[in-house]
Amino acid sequence: MTKGIIGAVIGDIAGSVHEFSSVSSMRFGLFTSSSSFTDDTALTMAVAEWMLNRDKVSIDESLLKWGRTYPNAGYGQGFKAFLKTGKRNPEGSTHNGSAMRVSPVGFMADTLEQALELAKESALPSHDTPGAIAGAQAIAVAIWMAKNGSSKEDIKTYLEKTFGYRLSRRYNEVRDDVQMRLAMRSTDKAKAHELLLAAETTVQDALTAFLASDSYEETIKRAIYMGGDSDTLACMAGGVAAAFWGVPDDIIKKALVYLPDDMISIINSIDGTSWKPTGITPPSTKRWREDDVVVYGTNDDDTNGEQGFFDVRISRFHHHPNTGYPVYTIGHSIDDIAAQVDRLRTDVESHPERRYLVREIGISKAGYTPQQISPMFSWAIGNDRVLLPESFVRILSR
Ligand SMILES: [Mg+2]
Repeated sequence: MTKGIIGAVIGDIAGSVHEFSSVSSMRFGLFTSSSSFTDDTALTMAVAEWMLNRDKVSIDESLLKWGRTYPNAGYGQGFKAFLKTGKRNPEGSTHNGSAMRVSPVGFMADTLEQALELAKESALPSHDTPGAIAGAQAIAVAIWMAKNGSSKEDIKTYLEKTFGYRLSRRYNEVRDDVQMRLAMRSTDKAKAHELLLAAETTVQDALTAFLASDSYEETIKRAIYMGGDSDTLACMAGGVAAAFWGVPDDIIKKALVYLPDDMISIINSIDGTSWKPTGITPPSTKRWREDDVVVYGTNDDDTNGEQGFFDVRISRFHHHPNTGYPVYTIGHSIDDIAAQVDRLRTDVESHPERRYLVREIGISKAGYTPQQISPMFSWAIGNDRVLLPESFVRILSR
């Protein structure tokens, strides 16, 4: 069990595929083939790195660094403007972006007073409004209290007293409210989104999911089942639940494949853990860095590739995620594919700044087997800039 920010990160990943959609029951898996970390995680890393080096970097610098490193993580309009200009927005956001990134403050603050003060400081660059500052402080303090042994009742009483929150409402009643706001999207989308993203309400919703639960996993599921801004609800609730119960190792191990090495390293520094990157290509790369190279299989015209191909092509009308490196597999001999993979190796060696995310090339449409293709990548085992599909890793590390 780990009491740390990994709990918030996993909430974000688990909620990422359910944003503004509703799950019909509490029986769903936490991880899917489209799951990805989002802005909640990227900026949690920013606050975490700031907490680790407060004497050397400002919160602004750290937010800018991580936001610019992961520009497709899904930021709101105001934060995008901050990333562009580097200047604080005088009209701060009232949304939950300050509370979604604050968990490192709760885990690292020495005292409750320091948690309050640093939570405020971490909010100011983009969320200098009373509700958004209070939201960040409430999540940070809930985490601090949970980590330091407070009961749920003590946490609830303190937050009600300090922030005027209503935390005695039943879970189902709060969920009905959220579902009503979700339904409002069809008539008044702008107003619905304002309500679904407001720090003041969503922080209370997330805390209600935590208070109604008996474990870390139940908290994540209740936060997502509530509906609305699922990744952020589960991220906020997940941070508090992780501080209260800890996160089971088996859940963390499943989450690691979704996380880049630079994030795992920050998480280890805050949580006191020593998780290693999996070396496995994540199922979805749309929030990863733009200069991360997706290596995908395709045909000669580069018009009929597999999933990695779509990850690259999606950029034309949606996000603009990764650079693509085509390997022409469809209709090509095994020797020819091997020669191309050799050239890829040269490309890897001449670009030490890039990460290469190799998809399961040559298998589905080209018709080869992982046993035939994976040996071409034996050179990549142990190279932490080259991630391979799980089937290749399994064969190569035998
Ligand atoms: Mg998000």
